[in-house]
Amino acid sequence: MGTDLEEIKNRLNIVDVIGDYLRLEKAGGNWRGLCPFHNEKSPSFMVSEEKQIWHCFGCQKGGDVFSFVMEMEGLEFKEALKILAEKAGVELKTVNPKAAEKKNRALEILELATKFYEFQLWEGPGKTKILGYLRDRGLKDETIKEFRLGYAPKGWRNMLDFLTKRGYGANEIFEAGLIIKKEGGQGGQQNYYDRFRSRIMFPIAEYSGKVVGYSARVAPGEDESQAKYINSPESGVYHKSRILYGIDKAKGEIKHADFILLVEGNMDVIATSQLGIRNVVAISGTALTSEQVDILKRYTKNFRIFFDMDSAGEGATRKSIKLCLAKDVSVNVVELPMGKDAAELAKDDPSALKRAIGSAKDAMEYVMERALEKFDKGTAHGKRMIAENVIEILEGFQNGIEKSHWIKKLADELDVKEQTLTEMTEKATLRGRTGESAERFQKKEADVAPREKMDVLIEDLIGFMLVSKEVWKEVAEKEMFPYLLKRDELFSAMIKEGRTVSFDFDVLVGAIDREMKLRAEKIYFQKKFRLGLNNVLEEAVLSDISKDSEFLFSEISKEIKRERMADIVRDLKSAEERNDREASMFLKKELKELLEGK
Ligand SMILES: [Zn+2]
Repeated sequence: MGTDLEEIKNRLNIVDVIGDYLRLEKAGGNWRGLCPFHNEKSPSFMVSEEKQIWHCFGCQKGGDVFSFVMEMEGLEFKEALKILAEKAGVELKTVNPKAAEKKNRALEILELATKFYEFQLWEGPGKTKILGYLRDRGLKDETIKEFRLGYAPKGWRNMLDFLTKRGYGANEIFEAGLIIKKEGGQGGQQNYYDRFRSRIMFPIAEYSGKVVGYSARVAPGEDESQAKYINSPESGVYHKSRILYGIDKAKGEIKHADFILLVEGNMDVIATSQLGIRNVVAISGTALTSEQVDILKRYTKNFRIFFDMDSAGEGATRKSIKLCLAKDVSVNVVELPMGKDAAELAKDDPSALKRAIGSAKDAMEYVMERALEKFDKGTAHGKRMIAENVIEILEGFQNGIEKSHWIKKLADELDVKEQTLTEMTEKATLRGRTGESAERFQKKEADVAPREKMDVLIEDLIGFMLVSKEVWKEVAEKEMFPYLLKRDELFSAMIKEGRTVSFDFDVLVGAIDREMKLRAEKIYFQKKFRLGLNNVLEEAVLSDISKDSEFLFSEISKEIKRERMADIVRDLKSAEERNDREASMFLKKELKELLEGK
């Protein structure tokens, strides 16, 4: 293996490799650039061509060509080795035990599958109906080819048969995400069927251009009641939270343009790219993830967000802005005329699209303008809403100077004291650190999952119990909601603590683990305080706790009943499907009792 390593190093010039990622300028016998690993305005990242090493005087990172690629792409050594071996044209001898072999097989399968889908589009049944549709959407043939769009024809075993004939096992094909196991299937080919049927296929490639999965759109004229898009499942090669559609084609261009255009969907990438704007990637999901930002900010720290301007898009835009600012990425927002999406505008009015991208607006300016449009700054209430709306974004800001710039601007706009807003922001930041937003950033993907109604109700209940000993006591002593004991750790701990020790907040937080403690504090905080314009944090008016909690109790009872009913119905259905008489009788009885309110 040592010789492979030497061979790769000999064949590659570190200046070329690093130069693929960032702009380097000649500085005497060395090369110099802006460090991709820390924030800086003047370059302290040095590359020595003679020694084939790099070093940053700002963040003290450094090493050889391997460590650079590892750091840059977030890879393990072996993966970096593979990439560089390929670049250098060196065939690795045996770095590959089983895992690597498995991964290679998966990539091979996906490459073959992509060719199959392409063939179906250009020569097969997709030729008549799908190709015309894509051309109507404004795509040129060369673009369709470049992005390797394809068609998965009707039928349950096209892909399965195609790959099986070429010697791949059902299990491997399954692991590549191309087929689905039948319920109760025992293995063997008969128990699988094609995942993608009657769909337009958008291959998703990793940064090197290798296909790792698909986004599949229902074919026009087919059953539109199905999900419009389905994606490959998470697999050994496809990692949803890291995927950025188009990154393989965009990465070179990003360096020249020095910004990334972030769009919502695959079609937006393709249409925009066709116009020659090639530094574009799609988030391909509901929200930008923390991992995606980490990956992209290695290429540039300037993002332009270009999402739909409907309310979902606006929500996603705000969330993304907040995430980027908290990670010290500079963000601009591209605003579209007339509620069109990027792909439509690319087709109908390309010059307007280019103008819009060129005149992207500073994200904070965008946030402020939207808040001013939404609320009336002439009233006290309106001022408060505007302030809260803007501060929610400002709160996570990394850069102090920029933060105070926007606070001053907001103060002028609302005609309130800067000091007031500064304090509000500080409190919000503090609260955010222990509370909601910090958690949101750490959770990465979880931030898109909507909360179930029951979870909201439980938090409300815990909040009441934490602010009022009486409520806590009542719930514990009357043994209310035993159903929730299993469902919520904190609730269950509070009941136990109350019954055996005391109904005391301080004693409780001393007795539970750190994570639960943070949650209890957060819930307490949310129940007890709210953000006010003048007083910064004001105590919430909890005028009639006993009445409010009674109402909450009845809401929870209803929701428990609804959840249990849904569970029973689901179990009943599956019992009937497997002809389990005994179980279905039992469940029917339970259902009846529940309906009668027992
Ligand atoms: Zn650095």
